[in-house]
Amino acid sequence: MDTKVCTGCGEDKPVGEYYLRGKTGAPVQPCKECQKARAKAKRESEGTKPMTDEQRELHREKMRRLREQAVNESPEEYRARRAAYQREWRKTASPESRRKQAEASARHRAKG
Ligand SMILES: [Zn+2]
Repeated sequence: MDTKVCTGCGEDKPVGEYYLRGKTGAPVQPCKECQKARAKAKRESEGTKPMTDEQRELHREKMRRLREQAVNESPEEYRARRAAYQREWRKTASPESRRKQAEASARHRAKG
């Protein structure tokens, strides 16, 4: 079986350990394991990264627009749309901003 030295981990691996390019069938560097490790590292680094000012501003702007639009729709429509947006936001938000969001809504509830 053909083997290939991975540019990521430097191991000599069978081509079955690599993803193959669709048209040519040529193994893609680095190997599957390295690509997975890189994707995981990327996800983790993004997960711990605090929101930038720009992202925070964008988030605030979106929430403001949601509230403005709510004037013209039923409470059900508003809730559905807000829930959809929050689901989307939770996918990208860092644990830090999630924690702050949770604190803010707790404060909001306490005020009644
Ligand atoms: Zn590798």
